[in-house]
Amino acid sequence: MNTLTQARTALLAGDLDALTLVNEHLARFDEQNPTTGALISYQADKARTDAAEADLSKPLGGLPIVLKDNINALGEPCTCGSKFLQNGYTAPYDATVTRKLREAGAIVMGRANMDEFAMGSATENSALANTVNPHDSNRIPGGSSGGSAAVVASGMALASLGSDTGGSIRQPAAHCGIVGMKPSYGRVSRYGLVAFASSLDQIGPLTNSVEDAATLLQIIAGHDPLDSTSLDVPVPDYSQSLTKGVAGLKIGLPKQYFAEGLDPAIEELVRAAAAKLEREGAELVEIDLPSTEAAVATYYILAPAEASSNLSRFDGIRYGQRSSQADGIIDTYRKSREEGFGPEVKRRILLGTYVLSSGYYDAYYTRAQKVRTLIQREFSQAFEQVDAILTPTTPTPPRKLHEADNDPLQDYLADVYTISANLAGLPAISVPCGSVDSGDDTQLPIGVQVMAPHLRDDLVFQIGARLENSER
Ligand code: GLN
Repeated sequence: MNTLTQARTALLAGDLDALTLVNEHLARFDEQNPTTGALISYQADKARTDAAEADLSKPLGGLPIVLKDNINALGEPCTCGSKFLQNGYTAPYDATVTRKLREAGAIVMGRANMDEFAMGSATENSALANTVNPHDSNRIPGGSSGGSAAVVASGMALASLGSDTGGSIRQPAAHCGIVGMKPSYGRVSRYGLVAFASSLDQIGPLTNSVEDAATLLQIIAGHDPLDSTSLDVPVPDYSQSLTKGVAGLKIGLPKQYFAEGLDPAIEELVRAAAAKLEREGAELVEIDLPSTEAAVATYYILAPAEASSNLSRFDGIRYGQRSSQADGIIDTYRKSREEGFGPEVKRRILLGTYVLSSGYYDAYYTRAQKVRTLIQREFSQAFEQVDAILTPTTPTPPRKLHEADNDPLQDYLADVYTISANLAGLPAISVPCGSVDSGDDTQLPIGVQVMAPHLRDDLVFQIGARLENSER
């Protein structure tokens, strides 16, 4: 039993009680976390108390869920995988998504490891723990929500929430063989999510089924006066999209996503997934998204620019780290940031500050904004031709640990298939579509991605549901 739906059915039938369910998951934490490193912390006593009082009449009553460690939960640590927040910061409030999960009856029981401040694709930039892929402990789980993915893939929780700025839900989901969904920009409140790049960030679910992802989005979606970017539009009933099938849908395969750099074994699996949809009545259409080649460069200007501004709040005065070596205010800023931030975060702050600085702003930042508009326009045009777009989630299977330690560009480039959905604000899902042989006696999971027009989150569930149960 590994889905929310199955656990809920068992709870309601009386085959299982909420405390037993929580205890089983806590036992799995103790057994698996020392090797997987998926969780930074968990609150066993509180989870047991909450389980004992679980209200099964609620949609997530008694179901254990884990949060990425950049989502605030009252009274708990929220480290963002950083030394900066490791000591001295406890969340003074619940994020809106945390509150909604609790109101729906969920047991919020642990905090998942992540790349520091969500910057990375391997969870190797965490300053606090090492997370490995549950399918092959010599390989990365993906990132930045690598802990959120590994915790679900290894059965330590039924589901988790992550955040996705350039692929951080979908890429680790693909690498760990589970479902990961980035909602449309504005669909979910980010109040209480520690901001990385505010024009790109979204919170979303990582689960063992498309149905579970739809269930969680249903609960966390919706307008929130505390996040001015959350949209005041009705939330449809996503469960209805799961059984609609794909007959009559036009699905675009962008040629730039099936080009040089894509592992041939992945291409084969993704094309097989597309062929399955075709057999079920969808029409496959080759489409053109020519600005795709500029997406990585655009993202790695805009995201660091926004990060350099968002992270200025970590100044040694207000949150977490404060240097004991400092003499005076300026020295406190300088030394606290020097001691608290890891190398990737410093690299991003430097990059971001550079592209925003006078003399370079127009050459980099303004130009990147223009390319972002082009990318958005190309998607709008594509969606006049097709209902949705299907691509690989990643160009390669999960790589070995530490392979990119001296080459950050290697991981930046591997974000090529996921970041456009963020730049254009589109909903996107990654669903497992098979595995490839690692050559070391392990099978490495592969994901297929579906993107749809803004606010058509229902459509990514509709298509995703047909991709998962595939006998190919
Ligand atoms: N890998 C991308 C980065 O390093 C995306 C991270 C994310 O989505 N949070 O910025």
